[in-house]
Amino acid sequence: MQTELADFIRDLPEGKEADAILRKCVHCGFCTATCPTYQVLGDDLDSPRGRIYLIKRVLEGAPVTGRTRLHLDRCLTCRACETTCPSGVRYGRLVDIGREVVEKRTWRGPWDWLKRSALSFGLPRTALFSLALKVGQAVRPFVPGRLKAKIPARPEGNAAWPAPRHARRMLVLGGCVQPALAPSINAAAARVLDRLGISLIEAPGAGCCGGVRFHLNRHEAGRDDMRALIDAWWPLVEGHGVEAIVVTASGCGVTVKDYGHLLANDPDYRDKAARISALARDLCEVVPADFPQIRPQSGPQSRVAFQSPCSLQHGQQLRGRVEALLQRAGYEAAAVQDAHLCCGSAGTYSLLQPAISGELRRRKLDALQAGAPACIATANIGCLTHLQSESAVPVRHWIELVDEALQRRVNA
Ligand code: SF4
Ligand code: SF4
Repeated sequence: MQTELADFIRDLPEGKEADAILRKCVHCGFCTATCPTYQVLGDDLDSPRGRIYLIKRVLEGAPVTGRTRLHLDRCLTCRACETTCPSGVRYGRLVDIGREVVEKRTWRGPWDWLKRSALSFGLPRTALFSLALKVGQAVRPFVPGRLKAKIPARPEGNAAWPAPRHARRMLVLGGCVQPALAPSINAAAARVLDRLGISLIEAPGAGCCGGVRFHLNRHEAGRDDMRALIDAWWPLVEGHGVEAIVVTASGCGVTVKDYGHLLANDPDYRDKAARISALARDLCEVVPADFPQIRPQSGPQSRVAFQSPCSLQHGQQLRGRVEALLQRAGYEAAAVQDAHLCCGSAGTYSLLQPAISGELRRRKLDALQAGAPACIATANIGCLTHLQSESAVPVRHWIELVDEALQRRVNA
């Protein structure tokens, strides 16, 4: 595609990057076939090809309107289009650049601004989110059905951590909302890795990865969260010889793996950010594929449908690993159609675009439950909470299922 970027951005690093990405797109439209918003809305401007065209026009200096922003807001940033594109167009990076420009040149209404500000303020603050969730859970029994479904139930899983005892150590991201919503996930990861000879540790004061605010188009606030997390991790990275930084939420993992790029223009942090990104691993990359094989369990809990989050399969390009680990742990895989499509969670998308998000969840749950699983497994806390609110069967993080299988083997 030929481009002629406007003076305001042509010579900036992001302008050069956007120009290189745009020039790779040949407008073939292959990506539209796997775009969830195009499937739901049927408008080319809600497809990757249409959005790329809109961003090109914006960067070439065309007027920016609320409609331009609407089509960019409706994008889930699921990056299914990147997996499909035969030309290697890095759409995710391009839409970040386009959104930043559009955000600065348009005005949101007061209600939209207020919602985004509340999410940006509240979600990354673990203690505040935890308090709000506890209040919500206390009144949950007394609210009507549809509202009740929006308030996650009290967590029930085993949140006990083993004491660190191994020479091999890995850091784990605590995250912002996961400690309140499902403290059992990191605990299960710690127990599984402990059995495999690795101690998992959390750094004091380490919170949000920065993805929440960055994807609300508050890029500098998101980068501040990234810098704060790097500062919290750095003494342990430098002094304690941690082998890896494990992330149990794939949505956060894709952000941490991108720190080197996102902070490349910050002279104080770029080297540290690159080191952090090089150490970052999704949990499925550190649980070895040859951990002790477990005989298939008989009974209704053994059939599992895996929902592969977009941040895992498209963002991190990790496919098939969790399915293999679940199978080795003795679970039978239920077939899932259209496994490449987003469930509609997408960070704060489910709160900001509830109609499209709800339709995508309905389609995803139909596909996941078609094989009559006893349980749905996922790899991301956002997808877990979003799917659980309407699912007829429990939705769990896959590591909790592996942990339970290993525990049953010990008890047998
Ligand atoms: S992003 Fe890729 S698949 Fe989509 S129109 Fe451009 S070249 Fe074709
Ligand atoms: S990121 Fe997802 S929703 Fe956005 S254009 Fe690509 S496929 Fe469509």
